[in-house]
Amino acid sequence: MMTIATQVFHVDPAHPDPAAIAAAAQALAEGRLVAFPTETVYGLGANALDAQAVERIFIAKQRPFSDPLIVHLASIAQLERVAVDIPAIAYALAERFWPGPLTLVLRRHPRVPPNVSAGRDTVAVRMPAHPVALALLQACALPVAAPSANLFSRPSPTTAQHVLDDLNGRIDIVLDGGPTSIGVESTVVDLTQSPPLLLRPGGATVEALRVLLPELKTPEAPLIASEAEAAASPGTLLRHYAPRAPMVLLAGETETALHFLRSAVAALNERGLRVGLFTTDEEAHSLADLQARIVSPGPQRDPAAVARHLFARLRALDRLGVDVILARTVWGKSTRAGLEMAIHDRLFRAAEGRVLDIAAPDALDRLLELLPYRKNTQSD
Ligand code: AMP
Ligand code: MG
Repeated sequence: MMTIATQVFHVDPAHPDPAAIAAAAQALAEGRLVAFPTETVYGLGANALDAQAVERIFIAKQRPFSDPLIVHLASIAQLERVAVDIPAIAYALAERFWPGPLTLVLRRHPRVPPNVSAGRDTVAVRMPAHPVALALLQACALPVAAPSANLFSRPSPTTAQHVLDDLNGRIDIVLDGGPTSIGVESTVVDLTQSPPLLLRPGGATVEALRVLLPELKTPEAPLIASEAEAAASPGTLLRHYAPRAPMVLLAGETETALHFLRSAVAALNERGLRVGLFTTDEEAHSLADLQARIVSPGPQRDPAAVARHLFARLRALDRLGVDVILARTVWGKSTRAGLEMAIHDRLFRAAEGRVLDIAAPDALDRLLELLPYRKNTQSD
């Protein structure tokens, strides 16, 4: 791929400069790529009605063509431009949740090129709740296909710097509107299935959705598709959002974890491995004396803060040059609700599905079996 000069516009997130928005809207109309902040993460946008522009998104992100994109709209009224056979519940959900972190999968309008949806006859749509995103969508008056603005399988971008770290020289414009507020992606609900199915937990909680959609089906555990199955169940690849060093998710109570982590870190140090610990403030505080680099996404009691900082802190682990990462999940027996569902889903995929029950008597042996002993040689 040829390198292009990526232009960065700093915009006031609440009152974006109309000149910057106009330049970005013009670029979209000409088939170019614009990264912009939404309330969830930064998106990488292209004109959703231009198949060539859409193809550029996949190339810039190195995203497999089998992984469909979400189409962003400026208003509920635009739904009919991109979808057909829209059920009444779609309008009811849009009225309640838009603008906001809810994506609806509907029947695709034939005018939307198939590559937006990776060839399927459905289309995912949402209206983002961010003044910069909305100003851009209004200015270009186009539906905008926009996946997260990161390289495929890397942690999602929640600042313009993350976008540049992954995509500088590969995209045309970045609108820098500061850090995003929710920090995890939108909730995806498939309304073309009966009953409707939760495809991805995200910023809109299942409890809030069930008020309007009591029949919503939610999988017990994160959905996992192999590369071969990904076409049938997009966006459910196991490895996603992953830091460079291999990560294992530790499930269990805090008291057990504090004890377990002491012996685990010692055992890994003995094998010459530099350990990264990813855990909430409360546990990090009790572990400060360990021979490990500790990174926290926030306090356990504040899931909104954990979600907001999750991806940035996963990226921070990369910069510390650790060989292995032990991460604590926030998905405890008492916390199977709210944003924690989305946080656990992202951590689970960042760990490529490696979850260890730390209460098991052979947990330490299991940990050593689970961790692939790749020595981290990359430095940045
Ligand atoms: P991203 O915006 O990078 O989080 O990726 C968009 C995600 O939305 C995909 O990975 C899928 O999980 C989901 N998605 C988008 N379009 C569809 C669709 N037509 N059917 C099912 N899921 C979709
Ligand atoms: Mg993504």
